[in-house]
Amino acid sequence: MNVLVINCGSSSLKYQLINSDSEEVLAKGLCERIGIDGSAIVHQPAGGEKVKSETDMPNHTKAVQLVIEKLTDPQVGVIASLDEIDAVGHRIVHGGEKFATSVVLTKEVLEAIEQCNDLAPLHNPANLIGINSCREIMPNVPMVGVFDTAFHQTMPKKAYLYGLPLEYYEKYKVRRYGFHGTSHDFVSKRAAELLGRDIKDLKIIVCHLGNGASVSAVQYGKSVDTSMGLTPLEGLIMGTRSGDLDPAIVTFIAQKEGISAEEVIGICNKKSGVLGLSGGVSSDFRDLGEAAQAGNEAAQTALETYGYRVGKYIGAYVAAMNGVDAIVFTAGVGENNAQARAEIGKYIGYLGTNIDPEKNKLRGEEVILSDEGAKVTVMVIPTNEELAIARETVRLVQQGNMCCAYA
Ligand code: AMP
Repeated sequence: MNVLVINCGSSSLKYQLINSDSEEVLAKGLCERIGIDGSAIVHQPAGGEKVKSETDMPNHTKAVQLVIEKLTDPQVGVIASLDEIDAVGHRIVHGGEKFATSVVLTKEVLEAIEQCNDLAPLHNPANLIGINSCREIMPNVPMVGVFDTAFHQTMPKKAYLYGLPLEYYEKYKVRRYGFHGTSHDFVSKRAAELLGRDIKDLKIIVCHLGNGASVSAVQYGKSVDTSMGLTPLEGLIMGTRSGDLDPAIVTFIAQKEGISAEEVIGICNKKSGVLGLSGGVSSDFRDLGEAAQAGNEAAQTALETYGYRVGKYIGAYVAAMNGVDAIVFTAGVGENNAQARAEIGKYIGYLGTNIDPEKNKLRGEEVILSDEGAKVTVMVIPTNEELAIARETVRLVQQGNMCCAYA
């Protein structure tokens, strides 16, 4: 089965065409600056070069059309026609409390997703636009939605409620949801496979450390806590996000700087994290590492503060699960950045992690960092959210009666 995986943002659309039998990526690409001047599509067939075409893309429907053109192009395409796309899997950011699992996208489901829009006003509307554009162009192809929040719907109340008046949860569903669920799910399952153990016997902490970053406690295969909250702003210090803050800071800075609370939240999302802490050096850990090595003190402090926060969360999740069997690093920083992992390693040695500094130098591959006999196994497992979405899509399409899905 060929599954087209779509990750649609407000002005971008990432895609991968995956053969679900071999789990091979047949082609992938990105449409940039949709609805903005200078839009372009970058397409790459498996084993081939990236091809960039600057083409006008006034809207997402045009972008999807171009994706199909590229996929079926005689030179750079990988399929003969649209008929070879058997299903489409869409990444959807927020499913609120309505979606604890992936779903086939029916008219009712789309309405329910729309009702979650106020929980993710930047992301969900864009996801829906992507879905509707695909439906326009491929009206008879089954589509599945895979939610970033779904995996964390198993969190118990004590983990997801804030210490606020209960009425805000009851009236507005203000609670912790968590994100990166597809990654936490995929990586924790893979960790169990690599350990040769049943996930139902394991307590795993997954550190998804990318530009956005979150930690989760996965007990016996279920998420019981995670560091992001109502929005992805809570928790770890990230590339540009502040993570946990005293909420009083928002109005304090707003008053001092003569700006609105919304503007402060914008700063917390886009200008904070290691970018802000380093005095603007970079949100990219490669640049930060170089700057720190060249003696930039703020960059060094940013890296230390980042590692300390992750270390504290790991400690908290050991407590949440009353133990831990494995700690897994994934995503851009977790998979590639030895320095960040070493920094975090300073705070977890007491668990008996025995991280081998030589193995910690490896990057971008599955590797067990702990030496043999360690009480807690520390591992690196590259995440693959697109593959996880493709697998979910196939599972649901094979399971359900897809006939009249959009009736
Ligand atoms: P992601 O959001 O998962 O794509 O992660 C992006 C971040 O991963 C970048 O901002 C980098 O800081 C980090 N990263 C990616 N590749 C490397 C690398 N080769 N070495 C160090 N850090 C990396």
